[in-house]
Amino acid sequence: MRFQTKIQILFVALFITVQAITLTAVNRTTKSHLKQQNERSLEVARAYFQLSLKQQHDELADKAATLLRNPAFTKAVISADRNIITRALNNLPDEFQSDRLLVVGSHKKIIYDSADSLKKGQQFFDPGLLSEANSTGFSSGFMFESGEASLISFVPVQLTDLVIWLGMVRQVTEANLEAIKTNIALPVNLSLLTRLPEKPSAINVSTTPASLIDPLTLVFQNLLRSTVSSTPVTTRLIDEEIVASIDKVAELPDNTAVFAGIYFSIDDALSVDQPLFNFLLLIAFVGVAIASIGCFYVARSVTTPIRTLDESVTRIASGNYHQRVQLYQPNEIGRLGQALNLMMESLESRSKETEYRLTHDLATGLANREFLEKQLTIWIDAKQQFSTMLIDIAHFSEINNTLGHEKGDQLIIDFSKRLKSLIKGRDFIARLPGKSFVIVLLDTSINEMETVAHQTLTAMDMPFEVSGDNVHIAIYMGAANYPADGQNTRTLLRKAETALDEARLHPLRYAAYDKHSDPYKPEMLSLMGKLREGLKKGEFFFEYQPKLDLTTGLVSGCEALIRWNHPDRGKIYPDEFIELAERSGNIGELTLWGLSEAMRQLEEWQALGGGITIAVNLSVRDIQYRQFSSRVKELLAAREIDPSHIHLEITETEMMAKPELSLNTLQNLSAMGFKLVIDDYGIGYSSMAYIKQLPVSEIKIDRSFVTQLLDNQDDHVIVNSTIEMVHSLGLEVTAEGVEDQNTLDHLKKIGCDYIQGYFISRPLKKKDFEDFLHQHNALDHRPGDDINLC
Ligand code: C2E
Ligand code: CA
Ligand code: CA
Repeated sequence: MRFQTKIQILFVALFITVQAITLTAVNRTTKSHLKQQNERSLEVARAYFQLSLKQQHDELADKAATLLRNPAFTKAVISADRNIITRALNNLPDEFQSDRLLVVGSHKKIIYDSADSLKKGQQFFDPGLLSEANSTGFSSGFMFESGEASLISFVPVQLTDLVIWLGMVRQVTEANLEAIKTNIALPVNLSLLTRLPEKPSAINVSTTPASLIDPLTLVFQNLLRSTVSSTPVTTRLIDEEIVASIDKVAELPDNTAVFAGIYFSIDDALSVDQPLFNFLLLIAFVGVAIASIGCFYVARSVTTPIRTLDESVTRIASGNYHQRVQLYQPNEIGRLGQALNLMMESLESRSKETEYRLTHDLATGLANREFLEKQLTIWIDAKQQFSTMLIDIAHFSEINNTLGHEKGDQLIIDFSKRLKSLIKGRDFIARLPGKSFVIVLLDTSINEMETVAHQTLTAMDMPFEVSGDNVHIAIYMGAANYPADGQNTRTLLRKAETALDEARLHPLRYAAYDKHSDPYKPEMLSLMGKLREGLKKGEFFFEYQPKLDLTTGLVSGCEALIRWNHPDRGKIYPDEFIELAERSGNIGELTLWGLSEAMRQLEEWQALGGGITIAVNLSVRDIQYRQFSSRVKELLAAREIDPSHIHLEITETEMMAKPELSLNTLQNLSAMGFKLVIDDYGIGYSSMAYIKQLPVSEIKIDRSFVTQLLDNQDDHVIVNSTIEMVHSLGLEVTAEGVEDQNTLDHLKKIGCDYIQGYFISRPLKKKDFEDFLHQHNALDHRPGDDINLC
């Protein structure tokens, strides 16, 4: 139950209780007060009842006296003749005929009774009453006939020697009593009772309903039996509480007593005051209603701030510190609210700090990987096109080792500053663990992406000044686009990484993701899975492409070109798996197999006689592998061969990618006696001056310059000048990709040492090569002869 509801219920219940107690007390006090008041009123009513009876007596006496003042009537009375009296009576006005007329004569005997009930000559039953009239001028009393009570008043008429009494009789009827009752404020009931000698008192006439007569009789009888009968008594009448009293109003000579009984029902009396009580009840009800409304507002004003505090605490518990408590009361609750606000501020700043630490790289202030992934997910959800450009600083570990970690860290900070200066607007930079960074460009075209890459590469080519030293760094950049290259953050970053691998092999040092060259394509991955297995099962073999010595016109050697006899796909050419093997880390195994196979083959051919050379292709990863030269040494040690007959070909671009890493291996290999050849020369940017420092003995001009040599003036110039320069360095030169006689002739003319190409022969299986070799070299070639292979 809500706190507010509780308070409301409590207050309303309290108020109702207080109201009920007050009302009960008021009711009781009022009742007892009213009872006392009613008892007093009963005294008054009681007196009035008796007074009314007495007034009627007086009235009757007055009437009798008035009659006696009428001489004609008096005469009729004296006549004592019934007929005369009746006639005289009939002549009187109506008011005199409503009551019974009684005439008593000498010896107190009845002369006349208008009701004709008492017989003439009969002794009047209460002679005392007559005597009293004689002495006081009138007298009043009661008479009973057939159980009915009547009031009677006598007035004496003094004749010369006799006295006649004129009596007026009026029966006490219910109407009579009702008439008296109307003048009494209390809702009383009046009764007239008689007690005949030796008999219990009984009600003669009463305003009480007939059904209550008997129990009321009992009440009065009990009252009469009690000693203090004149005091009003509270008693019960059936199920009603009543206050009753009884008074003797007359006693007849025969001991018959007449009583005036009076009572009222307390409930009836109080019911007179019911409107007052109802009014009090209404006031109480209105009071409760007002109190309820008041309680609602009080409870609300008390609980609202508490609820506000409660909600704030719940918010804090759920980690929401941003919404402050809006309580400005100058009391404890207000102060509590302000304290909570202070707490929230401190929690918020701490949580901001923690959040910053969790989402940023502290050294550079750039977003970290978690933040980057979150931000990319937001953009992906919003279908916002973007490009992720992954940047890697080459040889950073060497820089770190050379300069020390402190300067290395400073370099990273300067690098990130320079990167920031290149990026504008909504574009975004993050640092990944280590030396990788990511630039995210929004709504960028491929051209813009390339421009940014170019600008970044150019900017980073400028040296960094670290503690007075000028440090040169090289970076690679790989880009992947949303939505073209991936639908989620991880895929996009992986694709950018694939593009970065591509960039490492590319002279521009930048590459955008290309799904065709992605080694992680499912079919590529499955091919890779089979490569090691294929090596073990002997699925790889060499084809040998002859190499012609232009000076002698003889086949001086061959290049071993690897093939994979795939169980499902048949013969696969190296273009499809070499790069893949390089990226997946399998190239080492492949190269060692190749070298071992080439050495074995050389051993076999040397045994047959002849100084044939075999060129084997190496990968840049091989020569960067520190153990490579020692592994080759082991292979060489196992063979009886002249290592100078093994030519190791490394492409120019590979050699240039990480020359410092490769140099040591190249020197070792050269020292072992192998001949080193720079392959695919011309497509890289290496200067002859640099090549001169390398332990190479031969340069192989890339076939893209050779094939079109005679048709393309540029190629012509390049090939000519290359041959000239190579010779000037004391090195030999081979032109590969010779496809026709004219090219051969031209190359011979300009002094090229060796040629290779489809024009001589396509790569051949071992047996075919051996046949070709024997056939060709058996021809008599003299130095200087034109070589004509057709
Ligand atoms: P490469 O070293 O430049 O080898 C010469 C490639 O040119 C060979 O392709 C050969 O078939 C082709 N070729 C020869 N003469 C001509 C010609 O007159 N015209 C044209 N258009 N092409 C000609 P292949 O055998 O498919 O080898 C492709 C590349 O694979 C090689 O290029 C080499 O870089 C790599 N490779 C081959 N074998 C190995 C190996 O055992 N190890 C490594 N690491 N790489 C290898
Ligand atoms: Ca080659
Ligand atoms: Ca080549």
